Amino acid sequence: MIQVTNIHKAFGSNQVLKGIDLTIHKGNVVVILGPSGSGKTTFLRCINALEIPDQGVIAFDDGSLTVDFATKPNKKTLLALQRKSGMVFQSYNLFPHKTAIENLMLGPVVVQGTSKAVARTQALTLLAKVGLSGKADLYPFQLSGGQQQRIGIARALAIEPSLLLFDEPTSALDPELVKEVLATMKQLASEGWTMVVVTHEINFAREVADHVVLIEDGYVVEEGSAEQMFELSTHPRTQAFLQRIS
Ligand code: ADP
Repeated sequence: MIQVTNIHKAFGSNQVLKGIDLTIHKGNVVVILGPSGSGKTTFLRCINALEIPDQGVIAFDDGSLTVDFATKPNKKTLLALQRKSGMVFQSYNLFPHKTAIENLMLGPVVVQGTSKAVARTQALTLLAKVGLSGKADLYPFQLSGGQQQRIGIARALAIEPSLLLFDEPTSALDPELVKEVLATMKQLASEGWTMVVVTHEINFAREVADHVVLIEDGYVVEEGSAEQMFELSTHPRTQAFLQRIS
């Protein structure tokens, strides 16, 4: 279990996160919903220390790591937090001048000090896992958006994280390519990966989410099971949000 408590983050005078709490149970898929600009991406980036919260605590209950941002954690602690999670970005963020397999090897070799030979073997396994065995030596521009995003997912897996973070992973894709990425994500969910997913794909949330969180204006408005949020909620803001996106 990962306990995220009271996360605050401002950019200048723009107070974006106003005290967000989230419990992430091991093996669960948490889907974060909310209108554009409500702070979803910022929250995800805080979990991965891509943004440094102004205050708040992230604690792994196996005792492996607790980061209290109020105490201005040092670089080593932030790096340890970064290594806990693999991020999948909306725009893939692959290195354009590196091949698919080189993109997968980079994290393990540079960050974890894995040998190139071992990293290559692991990368080939990951390519097979996301259904792209034949694409190892292609560059991102030679791949479809859906294939690039599956490489993005494989890259997140390559560092063997405790947690996978997805930031609107399908929103840059043409509709016909969305399915293959969601299928890969469903497969990971069924394998028991712990995942936090920011998405507007309500059907994915209905089908796969163990827990759904609605964030608006830097706060958690409501959270609960998919059934609670999509079928039973009487919260006016949840209902208004769901009506807007359906
Ligand atoms: P969402 O993912 O819900 O669309 P974001 O977390 O991307 O929301 O953005 C929330 C707010 O934070 C927006 O007002 C956005 O302009 C601001 N913001 C996000 N990142 C930065 C940044 N690096 N610098 C300044 N403002 C930012």
